[in-house]
Amino acid sequence: MVSRVIPVDPFDLVIFGGTGDLARRKILPGLFRRFCAGQMPKDARVIGAARGDMSSAEYREFVAEAVAEFGGEGACEDGTLDGFLERMEFVTIDARGDTGWTDLVTLMRDDVVRAFYFSVGPSLFGDLAERLTKHGLTDADSRIVVEKPFGRDLDTAQALNRDLAKHFDERQIYRIDHYLGKETVQNLMAVRFGNMLFEPLWNSQYVDHIQITVAETVGVGGRGEYYDKSGAMRDMVQNHLMQLLCLIAMEPPSKFDPDAVRDEKLKVIRALDAVVPHHIVRGQYEAEGGDPSYREAVGDARSRTESYIAMKVGISNWRWAGTPFYLRTGKRLKARSSEIVVVFKELNHSIFGEAGEHRNELSIRLQPNEGITLGVTIKEPGPGGMRLMNVPLDMSFAEALGPDGADQTDAYERLIMDVIRGNQTLFMRGDEVEAAWAWTDPIIHGWEARGDVPKTYDAGSEGPVDAVQLLARDTRVWRKVTP
Ligand code: NAD
Repeated sequence: MVSRVIPVDPFDLVIFGGTGDLARRKILPGLFRRFCAGQMPKDARVIGAARGDMSSAEYREFVAEAVAEFGGEGACEDGTLDGFLERMEFVTIDARGDTGWTDLVTLMRDDVVRAFYFSVGPSLFGDLAERLTKHGLTDADSRIVVEKPFGRDLDTAQALNRDLAKHFDERQIYRIDHYLGKETVQNLMAVRFGNMLFEPLWNSQYVDHIQITVAETVGVGGRGEYYDKSGAMRDMVQNHLMQLLCLIAMEPPSKFDPDAVRDEKLKVIRALDAVVPHHIVRGQYEAEGGDPSYREAVGDARSRTESYIAMKVGISNWRWAGTPFYLRTGKRLKARSSEIVVVFKELNHSIFGEAGEHRNELSIRLQPNEGITLGVTIKEPGPGGMRLMNVPLDMSFAEALGPDGADQTDAYERLIMDVIRGNQTLFMRGDEVEAAWAWTDPIIHGWEARGDVPKTYDAGSEGPVDAVQLLARDTRVWRKVTP
């Protein structure tokens, strides 16, 4: 099965921060892969815009290096890279001053989609939005793409939304959460709403609990200063885990339309219960071998910022009241693994006695090895009576769909193409982001006011012991964190 590629309309994409880490590792290599796949039209253009002197020729070299390092195994023919590089331009620009803006005006074409990717720190979003309109670079159809972090609390998120709303309609603003661009995340919606099988069971009557895990093996690395002001709650839970929770928990939208989907997600966030302190476990990783501890890595021996968080979350609505959602995410854990597990209830009555006490679990794996697995109970093969066992019905996308069918498109490239297509379904709406902060803020304020100190955990472990207790108190266990 070969996936279909539908080219998007011709576009001029300006990447503010076009020489930054995100552009180098994700945006530019992603665009290259779309170019190779034939989705980026030949007359599309990418304009890097950043501080620092650089000619377009030098930028092409920068892009070629980024593609060589992070391009992946794109099925590109010889010579394709040259074709891609021809689409690149560069302007030196100052988001806070007047340098470069008239050069950008001269470069832009009128008869194509105009998209502006704000791949810079959020403190520049307002400046960029203002200068784009001041210099007449945008029209009613232009789009802006903004990166995380979208605020660090409700106040700052509202301020950012206000700054952008002065110059752009909500339908022009694409707030990226790259988790929403992952193939399996969209498959989650396909599985839920495209099959008769699951939706009738998708509620507290049949679902015992749900676990969402985003585990990383890396530490804070060179991002220590930034990370220490943020922590796992702001960096991961408020955005990525919250988005996954919404897609799992939301009511079926009336149609697969950006606002219908986002309306349903918003209702989930608004139905989240406040989280009581003893339903939260925060942790900091310890040193291991030559690798520093969290506190050493951020250079603050008294830091109270969490590199790990686990929490029990309730949703007060008809579908989910009584079914807990357990979320956890952390750095320097045993394996890199992102997974959602829906654990169904035990049978009301097993005709096989204790031997039949198996639960069905639906595991939706985001990375690595994207795929969906359903644990089902069968008879253990062989003679000698009725013994039962639990086996996985495995749908690894790579295996099920073959090398051409398993779409290996990276989240960023998929999302950028959606921007050009003008499809906001996989982007966060302003009210969603604000609602997520409104839920997150009191939790953070609570531990700050109490002066809570995170527990320590061994690097390479599954997190603090207290996180095991969090589930053990409810007679439940976490799924193993496996690669
Ligand atoms: P970076 O520091 O590597 O790059 C910043 C870029 O912005 C550079 O190109 C720089 O020239 C440009 N810039 C800075 N000040 C400017 C100004 N006044 N005028 C014009 N250009 C200016 O940052 P990054 O890691 O690429 O991150 C960019 C944004 O993306 C940040 O908001 C970050 O939080 C977010 N983000 C980054 C990653 C990542 O993996 N790097 C992941 C998710 C989100």
